[in-house]
Amino acid sequence: MIRAGILITGTEVLSGAVSDRNGPWLARRLEQAGVEVAQIAIVGDRPEDMAAVLEPMAGLDLLITSGGLGPTADDLTVAAIAGWLDLELVLDGDLEAQIARIVSALRARRGIEGQAMDAGNRKQATIPAGATVIAPVGTAPGLVIRPDGPVRRPICVVLPGPPRELQPMWDSALATEPIQELLAAVEDRELQTMRLYGLPESQLAHTLREAQRAGIELERLQVTTCQHRGELEITTRVPAAERAAYAAFERFMEDAHPDQLFSRDGSTVEEQVARLLGDGGRTIALAESCTGGMLAARLTDLPGSSSYLKGGIVAYSNEVKTAQAGVPAELIERHGAVSEEVARALAEGVRSRLDSDLGVGVTGIAGPGGGSPEKPVGLVWLAIAGPAEETSTARSVRLPGGRAEVRERAVTVAMHMVRRALLTAGA
Ligand code: ATP
Ligand code: MG
Repeated sequence: MIRAGILITGTEVLSGAVSDRNGPWLARRLEQAGVEVAQIAIVGDRPEDMAAVLEPMAGLDLLITSGGLGPTADDLTVAAIAGWLDLELVLDGDLEAQIARIVSALRARRGIEGQAMDAGNRKQATIPAGATVIAPVGTAPGLVIRPDGPVRRPICVVLPGPPRELQPMWDSALATEPIQELLAAVEDRELQTMRLYGLPESQLAHTLREAQRAGIELERLQVTTCQHRGELEITTRVPAAERAAYAAFERFMEDAHPDQLFSRDGSTVEEQVARLLGDGGRTIALAESCTGGMLAARLTDLPGSSSYLKGGIVAYSNEVKTAQAGVPAELIERHGAVSEEVARALAEGVRSRLDSDLGVGVTGIAGPGGGSPEKPVGLVWLAIAGPAEETSTARSVRLPGGRAEVRERAVTVAMHMVRRALLTAGA
């Protein structure tokens, strides 16, 4: 097993001003590459703090750092890593010239006069002897460093903090010799993902125990489960020799939960909805109240969504529900804004006003205020209109959690209703 640590540096991240996007992103990438992540540590830019988290990571195979590569004195990562690995820092003249070119081009584009900051360039071009340079996406180069001292230390990959720089540079790092050699030692395992919707976690746990009893060796398959946005995800790392066992596990899951298992190839509900809409040449429009456009955001996450998403109305106030989405005011008065009638009217209204094949209406009480005994916080009514009679449906759900969770879950419920409607209609 190849094991890695991730070191996130930066006072902004430590203080919570910026939330860490690099640790989870790198962890996911490492997992896909078959590397086990042992630890993600976040530290500020005090050298002692960095040293304190580095020491316990000495026994790992790989260490990736994020941040602290800028030209200023508080950017300390390279010096800290070089010190830890006991490597000398040397000025790389070619790299210095390359950084100078990038910096002056940047300045020219922004219309800033004057010479490039020589001292800053020199600092960024001063790297541990023997390190492999990863070409900068911004101005800071990254590094891949193979330790060669007598003491055990991981291979270190040093990357800049801004995610739009770190991500492509990690892909470049993957192509370097030290990382290629390391990954060659990873046991060949195939990553498989199943997704379920509408199944409580406890019931999945029960099914997994049953699978064990039926002789499927889940440990050998490295099965892990997690709950995500109201769905359950089962990830399995299948060794080449266990393919048949995985096939048996997949069949077991299909038999146990035929209605809940919606993805065996790892595809997400968004991807499936996009494919169903695209294949059927159908369009969709949304009238969202409590989700405030989040359903539109989920649907536009994927490139190419313009071919099927006509648009959406954030019908938050009753006036907009009536004026823009065509919900009769009388209906709202009689049944309340959170009701089956209004959800259906939203779906039908937006479908006809935006001239789409499918219309979706969402209305609910996200909280924390606004609940009542008959209509508690978390109650959401959702409706689909068209394209055929049998696909027009409505349902209510009672979602757990706070405002953010209720809204996010409501989007998931809506996505699955759309998927179901498209399957019923026959794509
Ligand atoms: P630069 O040359 O841009 O200073 P750097 O490697 O020194 O690069 P940092 O100074 O640590 O990077 O971070 C620069 C900015 O990048 C931060 O202000 C923050 O907006 C963003 N950033 C850094 N680390 C992270 C992270 N872990 N998650 C999300 N954003 C981050
Ligand atoms: Mg910086």
